[in-house]
Amino acid sequence: MSNRGFLLILSSPSGGGKTTLCKMILENIKDTVYSISATTRERRSGEVDGKDYFFLTEDEFLKKEKEGFFAETAIVHGKRYGTPKSFLEDMVKKGKIVVMDIDVVGAMNIIKKYPNSVSIFIMPPSFQELENRLKRRSRDKDDDIKIRLENAKKEIEFSKHFKYTVINENLKDAFQKIKEIIENEKRRI
Ligand code: 5GP
Repeated sequence: MSNRGFLLILSSPSGGGKTTLCKMILENIKDTVYSISATTRERRSGEVDGKDYFFLTEDEFLKKEKEGFFAETAIVHGKRYGTPKSFLEDMVKKGKIVVMDIDVVGAMNIIKKYPNSVSIFIMPPSFQELENRLKRRSRDKDDDIKIRLENAKKEIEFSKHFKYTVINENLKDAFQKIKEIIENEKRRI
């Protein structure tokens, strides 16, 4: 089997289960590595700088953006996010599957720039379930939940541009489907 790497883009509305699925992929599937993004949003409790994100000030972010450090950048929920470019390219050359947890705008830009990317949209089973999940998680303030739900409607519109859509009814089945997609893509690429 060939050993060429590829970018694996995972997008979903906030609360879609993407972060948990990313962890499952990284822990269970060989040759996967995580693309750590930079962001200007505040660090949440439990998050580690350099592991979950590179937390940057607005000035630091803009400087790096100007220097061409990022493969893509986007503003999500009012904060800046960006994917470091050299990591992606180095890892693909090494034969790795680079897992990217990014928003739909970032996903569109990456697909344009790297047409061999494999993109998966993680769809929540229903809008009501998405709202329940966001409330249960209660990490976000009520206002934030409203913004995230509004954004979710727009994000779901983008799903048609993704190569695959996986409905996250439950994590076990969603993970199994993603695993099959990866196996097929490994053979193809
Ligand atoms: P959170 O702040 O909740 O970790 O992430 C908010 C949103 O930003 C999520 O949809 C996540 O996928 C997206 N995101 C994280 N990193 C990046 C990135 O580097 N680029 C883009 N475009 N979106 C990102």
